[in-house]
Amino acid sequence: MHHFEYRGDVLYCEDVAIPDLAETYGTPLYVYSTATLKRHYRVLSEAFETQSCLIAYSVKANSNLAVLATLASMGAGADVVSGGELYRALKAGIPAEKIVFSGVGKSVSELNAALDAGIHQFNVESIPELHRLSRLAEARGVKAPIALRVNPHVAAGGHANISTGAAEHKFGIAWHEAKDIYKEAMDMPGIQVAGVDVHIGSQITDIAPMRTAFEKVVGLVRELRDMNIPIERIDLGGGLGIPYRDGDVPASPSDYAAMVRDVLGDLDVQVILEPGRMIAGNAGIFISRVEYIKERDGRRFAILDAGMNDLMRPALYQAVHEMKPVVKSASDWTQTYDLVGPICESTDRFAKDYETTELHEGDLVAFMSAGAYGAVMSNQYNTRPICAEVLVDGEQHDLVRRAPTFEEIVSSEQIPKWITS
Ligand SMILES: *Cc1c(COP(=O)(O)O)cnc(C)c1O
Repeated sequence: MHHFEYRGDVLYCEDVAIPDLAETYGTPLYVYSTATLKRHYRVLSEAFETQSCLIAYSVKANSNLAVLATLASMGAGADVVSGGELYRALKAGIPAEKIVFSGVGKSVSELNAALDAGIHQFNVESIPELHRLSRLAEARGVKAPIALRVNPHVAAGGHANISTGAAEHKFGIAWHEAKDIYKEAMDMPGIQVAGVDVHIGSQITDIAPMRTAFEKVVGLVRELRDMNIPIERIDLGGGLGIPYRDGDVPASPSDYAAMVRDVLGDLDVQVILEPGRMIAGNAGIFISRVEYIKERDGRRFAILDAGMNDLMRPALYQAVHEMKPVVKSASDWTQTYDLVGPICESTDRFAKDYETTELHEGDLVAFMSAGAYGAVMSNQYNTRPICAEVLVDGEQHDLVRRAPTFEEIVSSEQIPKWITS
C-alpha cells in the first residue's frame, strides 16, 4: 500500500501533483510520502500491540533526517550500522534507549560513541568484537547490553548479494559455537548478556525460510535459559520483501507479524524488529526527465537525466523498478525502450526492453518503490551532484535534502602546494 496514485492522467504523491514537484525542485528527484511511512510503521506496531516490542527501523534503508524524525514521532527506535547512522538517529530525536547497533566491523570509536550514548543493545557479530566491547565498557565502568548475532544456516533474500544467513556469509557467529560463546560472554566484565539476534537477508518475499530461522532461534533461547543464561530479548532482524513490479505479491506485513507471533508462542521476551525496506521502500519514488530518445541499430534508448549514481539498485543487483509515466499518454500505443542514464558505464541502465507508452523528450517518468536503498546509496560519480529529496505530507511538501552546488562538491578537496608552486 502506498500513496502514489493517478488523479486523472497525472501521478500524485498524496495531494501533491508530481509535475509541480519536478517544476519546483528540478529532476532527478526523490519524493517520499509521510502517510505511507506512517502507515507501514503502524501496521507492524499494531500487529505486536499485545507484546513487548521495539521496532528499530533500519536506518541504512533511508537515513534522511526527516524520514527518521517522522518515524521517531511514531515511537520508532533505530537499528544503526555505523557511527554516522548513530549520529543521525540521535539527531533526529530517536532516544538512545531505542537504538540497537548492528554490523560486522564496529570500530573502537564507534563502540565508544554508542557506549557514551547508552544504547539499548549491541548486536555482536564475533568473539574479537565481544572482547573489544567488554574492554571498552569496563574502562567506562559500565556493562554493555549485548545480543549475539547467530548465523542460522538459513539464507533467503531477493538476490544472492542481499542474502546473509548462510555459512559462507561474513555475518554472525557460528551456530554450533553459540552456546559456548554465550557462556564465555557471561564471564566478561564489561558485558551484560541480554538477547539473541538473527537477520537472514533482505527482500524476502516467502516467509517460510524466516519461520525456519526464527524457530531455530527460539529453540536456542530456551536452551540458553536452561543454562541459566538470562535471555530477555529476541531480535529478529529485518528482511521482509515488498512488491517492486505490478503483480508481485510478497508476504504482507500482517502475514509476517502473524508468523512471528505463532513462532514465539508464549515465550516471554522483548521482541526487537529491524524493518528497513518494508517501512521505506514503497514510501518513495524517484522522478527523472527524458533528455533524448535515441534509435540505433534496432534499439530504442530513452536517455534520462538520472543515472546509476542516483539509483544504484539496478546496476548493483539487477533490480528492476516499475517505471510509470508521470503524465499518462493520450494513446495506448506502446514501445520498447532501454531506460538508460547519462553516465559513462554500460551498467548505467534502469531497464532493458522495457515496454511502456510512447516516451518523448521532456517527459517525466517515475521509478516506483525507490524509498529504500535509493538515495542512501547515491554518489557523485561523474561529478553529478547527489540529487534532492522531498517529503510530502498531505498538501505540504518541502525539500529534505538539497543537491549540492559544484562549488560545494569540490570544497572538501585541495590541491597540494607542491603542484602549483
Ligand atoms: C539491512 C539490515 C536490516 C534491514 O533489512 P531490510 O531488508 O531493509 O528490512 C536489518 N538488520 C540488519 C542487521 C541489516 O543489515
